[in-house]
Amino acid sequence: MNLFRFGSLPVPHAVSTRQGGLSDGPYASLNVGYGTDDAEERVTGNRLLLLQSLGIAPEAVIAGRLSHGNAVTVFRRGQESPEVERPVRAGSTHRDRAFLSDAAVSDVPGLYVFLTFADCVPLLFHDPVREVVGAAHAGWRGTAAGIARHTIAAMCDAFGCRPADIRGAIGPSIGPCCYTVGSDVCTEFRARGNPPIMRGHHLDLWAGNEVQMRDAGVTLVETAGLCTACHTDLFFSHRAESGRTGRFALVAGLRA
Ligand SMILES: [Zn+2]
Repeated sequence: MNLFRFGSLPVPHAVSTRQGGLSDGPYASLNVGYGTDDAEERVTGNRLLLLQSLGIAPEAVIAGRLSHGNAVTVFRRGQESPEVERPVRAGSTHRDRAFLSDAAVSDVPGLYVFLTFADCVPLLFHDPVREVVGAAHAGWRGTAAGIARHTIAAMCDAFGCRPADIRGAIGPSIGPCCYTVGSDVCTEFRARGNPPIMRGHHLDLWAGNEVQMRDAGVTLVETAGLCTACHTDLFFSHRAESGRTGRFALVAGLRA
């Protein structure tokens, strides 16, 4: 299976591509997003294929229910998990382990966070000193709301991480080459205290998230530099495919 990994983060993780799955049409082929119109059993089959290739048991996975906010769920070793059980999509009888935010941090060995994307920015964090992992889904709304900063703060508050020990990574997502936005988006960024980083009429979410990481004290930041809209052979892109497309995943956790 064709997967993307960050070279500088020695923690079990992967960003899936759209290759090697069961779905067809706009969802071809490794669509792992239940929030699409793809057949539920194909999404389930694709998730199993992905987890199998990573050597992760499906029971070890907790999936974010995304809302483009900046809340962070904390999973702590030896404490009751804040997870909930939810139908995988509205009306489904199939339930899974879920957390109700766009970001999560964890020091629990053998627990894997699962987030889905189709242009929004996958963010991954690892503190190799405290052995803590963090993951976030940063679209323009999450970036404007400071989700990178909030995720780093949660690692420091919950586990005593020092920002200088944390490594950050910015995954495949719509790039400054393709992301045309209107003035309403820029206005929202300014209203949330995060000036948008623009390249002409294009919003640079990679730079925006990197600035949040560096302002928080993270010195090692790896950026994939892969634009989903430029690479629809490899990734799903909401913008490039006019909203009818699948989702790829960021899966990350600590070894059991
Ligand atoms: Zn592009």
